[in-house]
Amino acid sequence: MRMILLGAPGAGKGTQAQLLVKELNIPIIATGDMLRAAVAAKSALGLKAKAIMDAGGLVSDDVIIPIVQERIAQPDCANGFIFDGFPRTIAQAQAMRDAGVVIDYVIQFAISDETIINRLSGRRIHPGSGRVYHVEHNPPQQEGVDDKTSEPLIQRDDDKEEVVKQRLTVYHQQTEPLVAYYQDWENEGSAHAPALVSIDAAADVSQIENELLGLFRKEARV
Ligand code: AMP
Repeated sequence: MRMILLGAPGAGKGTQAQLLVKELNIPIIATGDMLRAAVAAKSALGLKAKAIMDAGGLVSDDVIIPIVQERIAQPDCANGFIFDGFPRTIAQAQAMRDAGVVIDYVIQFAISDETIINRLSGRRIHPGSGRVYHVEHNPPQQEGVDDKTSEPLIQRDDDKEEVVKQRLTVYHQQTEPLVAYYQDWENEGSAHAPALVSIDAAADVSQIENELLGLFRKEARV
């Protein structure tokens, strides 16, 4: 099972990815998490990426594509993976297509900008694991700390309102066109085209989870 979770920042891709891996037993490849780890490690990649990320821009395709190519060649990806936050541009999607990476599903998380702005201002992250919480909608058992490790939760610098607005602009300009890209590919009737599925990302977390698991279980029976 290889799938792409496609949607604006804060649409709930990371939350669903965490829930889906419990059932599907395949790795999550979240390019944002990989970049944040590089920033924390102060590696050459991290130094290059930090200013762009802080400003809400996109790290260049030449940098991201090889990192992902290398990651999906690892043995733990043999049975599939969940892309979260990749591809984010047509060039990234096309690079996967050109490399013959067959994707089963593209899940489009549809949601309004207003809902996103509200969600991201309350989002809290456990940096070690990528676990995602929300102060109101998905609070940790104890305020400010991770449920599993009891380590402190953080607010990402780029979850501040001005940066969120910039990230949404970038999303609409560069990433949203991927919906039409995958729709057109599916319409061509090619055997390798991923199935594009749109979900209402403003719905309850558990409702979306059930919808997605239902889809994948149906697939497993075929
Ligand atoms: P995310 O955690 O997915 O919201 O990503 C955080 C930031 O990392 C984004 O705002 C971008 O600056 C950068 N980033 C993550 N994934 C990509 C990607 N596929 N292409 C370019 N930049 C990315």
